[in-house]
Amino acid sequence: MRILLTNDDGIRAPGLEVLEAIAREFTDDIWICAPDEEQSGMGHALTLTRPVRLRKHGERRFSVTGTPTDSVTMGLRKVVDAAPDLILSGVNRGANLGDDITYSGTASAAMEGALAGIRSIALSQVYARNGAADEDTFRAALAWGKRVIEPLLDAPMPDRSLINVNFPPLAAEDVKGIRVVRQGFHDYARGTVVEGRDPRGFQYYWFGLDPIEHTLDHGTDLEAIDDGFVSVTPLHLDLTHYSSLDTLASRFEG
Ligand code: MN
Repeated sequence: MRILLTNDDGIRAPGLEVLEAIAREFTDDIWICAPDEEQSGMGHALTLTRPVRLRKHGERRFSVTGTPTDSVTMGLRKVVDAAPDLILSGVNRGANLGDDITYSGTASAAMEGALAGIRSIALSQVYARNGAADEDTFRAALAWGKRVIEPLLDAPMPDRSLINVNFPPLAAEDVKGIRVVRQGFHDYARGTVVEGRDPRGFQYYWFGLDPIEHTLDHGTDLEAIDDGFVSVTPLHLDLTHYSSLDTLASRFEG
């Protein structure tokens, strides 16, 4: 089995090392193509206004001066010599739950893989709220990664669908299990916009990462994490709101 790995936190991200360790439990045929720099929050952005550069860091290890989507595109077209059987994106440092998904470079890299017709899984490690050290951040992902990926390797996957996995911010032994759940939603609040002055006296704004409130709907990814489970959510790229098709069409009749 050949696996292509990427990570929106960049080629040097600790979470990519964690993902590589997880992937090595399945195969040694591992290829890495990740952004040169952190690209969190870039969503499904594709670089169109400037060239991208491909840098080789080692055997089967490459970075791209672009977005997570650029990295998957380059990985598939210019890095691997034959199509991978699986694309793993992550392990992201931080949650990709609910509507985080639409901003997520991690999920979007897996979306790009799904569009290319390759089985793709996004993996994210929710932050420990107790301020655990960085080396502890990924402990649930490390311990549960293989257990969650293995059943997904031959699960039926419709075209243009992908899987979004989040690990709770807990020690491995405190994780209660794995739940397959739907996507939840945060209560809308973009949080603080931090204002300051740069060293040259110009004003800047920086979006703060405040804790985001959410109503815990039953059966959602947000609830699963809150309950101490690994969340597994099947996603698809068809954004059509089917139940609105007829009512909307009727507005244009006659
Ligand atoms: Mn990230």
